[in-house]
Amino acid sequence: MGDATLPGLLTPGRLFIGGEWVEAESGKAFEVTNPAKGEILTEVAEGEAADVDRAVGAARQAFDSGAWPDTTPRKRARILWEIARGLEARKDEITRVETLQNGKPLFESGIDLDMTIETFEYYAGWTTKIEGATIPLSVPNQFGYTLREPVGVVGAIVPWNFPLNLASWKVAPALAAGCTVVLKPASETPLTALLLAEIAAEAGLPAGALNVVPGGGRTAGEALVAHEGVDKIAFTGSTAVGQRIAKVAADTVKRVSLELGGKSPNIVFADANIPFAARGAVTGIFYGKGEVCAAGSRLLVERSAHDEVVSAVAEGAGKMTVGDPFEKGTRIGAIVSERQMERVLDYIERGKTEGARVVAGGERVQELGPGYFVRPTVFDQVTPEMTIAREEIFGPVLATLSFEDVDEAIERANDTMYGLAAAVWTRDVKKAHYVARRLKAGTVWINTYNLYDAAMPFGGYKASGYGRDLGRHALEQYTETKAVWVDLRR
Ligand code: NAD
Repeated sequence: MGDATLPGLLTPGRLFIGGEWVEAESGKAFEVTNPAKGEILTEVAEGEAADVDRAVGAARQAFDSGAWPDTTPRKRARILWEIARGLEARKDEITRVETLQNGKPLFESGIDLDMTIETFEYYAGWTTKIEGATIPLSVPNQFGYTLREPVGVVGAIVPWNFPLNLASWKVAPALAAGCTVVLKPASETPLTALLLAEIAAEAGLPAGALNVVPGGGRTAGEALVAHEGVDKIAFTGSTAVGQRIAKVAADTVKRVSLELGGKSPNIVFADANIPFAARGAVTGIFYGKGEVCAAGSRLLVERSAHDEVVSAVAEGAGKMTVGDPFEKGTRIGAIVSERQMERVLDYIERGKTEGARVVAGGERVQELGPGYFVRPTVFDQVTPEMTIAREEIFGPVLATLSFEDVDEAIERANDTMYGLAAAVWTRDVKKAHYVARRLKAGTVWINTYNLYDAAMPFGGYKASGYGRDLGRHALEQYTETKAVWVDLRR
């Protein structure tokens, strides 16, 4: 099950504050587990409010002194580019550590790392292009222009499903804009964020520009959100925690962007290329063990194609190899933690008791215990009011519903508090675009699923959050716009 030896830096892991590796002030540490074995991997210093305070102090110093925001755009670009090179040079080590702490197959950690590298490269290109505008004013003899200035110190709080990649979605645009950052990774998966800190320092990032403070959400996370020295919180995680963050941040009127949960519909019309759509439905939910915010967890199928699609999807799910994430043929790795596995299994039980029919999986993979493995599970005959049709499970569980026509497909798809992503499968171009417009979701894929690009904005409608990661849109969240007036007469 993969070599569990970790780089020296991570045994034990410490906090990275002001360019130095430090212990937590309390002296406390927490354990990080390898979910594929149910074994402890290492310990990491546990940051709490006092450590967050130190990290914010270092980030403030790097910002207020101009150490990072006054670094020329060209130099900032070079440093971001060098971070990408540093990540690339340590690809084997990073992907191995990501798989050890998260349980995802090694090839998925490779895909994550590629996107992380792409994100740093993409924002390296932006540092020299963050421009203001000249404004045509109606007040006579005045010249007006805007400046785009970095917002200040950013607190980035990220979840455990794409630990390094989602960190890069915050850190890269924030640094590109000239902000400094305190990053709090999820306590399940702090290790690759620590590797990033080392790589960024080696790439020439000034001390204090990126600080990493692993720790609990209620302690370290909330201290960061409440801290007066933090100007903005960039959060990815659950909707419940996002609501809490928005409330706590309101006291200091911090800028907040929230990327939250989802219950994304995958809509298959009868005129789709059915084998292709079924494959897309399978990868749409089971990629990343279903621990993907945009997972296509509701499969909506046009009635006349229902049986054909469901049997193809169930067959596809049944063929997926669940097991050692370091084995080449493995498609589904271990659920990130025992707690998360129990949550997923509870939802499976609720699906059964509420009357849905299991057509694939439906249980823990006992023979792989003590690791936390769940079989890819497909439910048929799900009705809209069932729990598994409404709540985010965040695991390898698909709920299948049917619809009669385009209007009912749209109504069912939008019948959720979430609005992160959706997909439409059809050969009818007009129908595809019509449905795409009417879906309340931040991303719509047509005849595909789970594609991402650093240039394409990503984020939610409704309870899936506000603000956008990636693309030029993310930069707006890390800059303030200043309006400057000049009287041209005196
Ligand atoms: P979570 O909300 O429990 O935790 C996310 C992060 O917030 C962790 O670092 C955690 O320590 C921290 N946190 C927890 N309580 C906090 C508090 N009171 N104050 C400050 N920080 C706190 O989420 P999770 O279980 O780690 O991740 C799964 C969730 O993330 C799912 O709901 C998923 O949909 C969502 N997600 C969303 C996206 C997106 O882009 N929209 C991407 C990935 C995951």
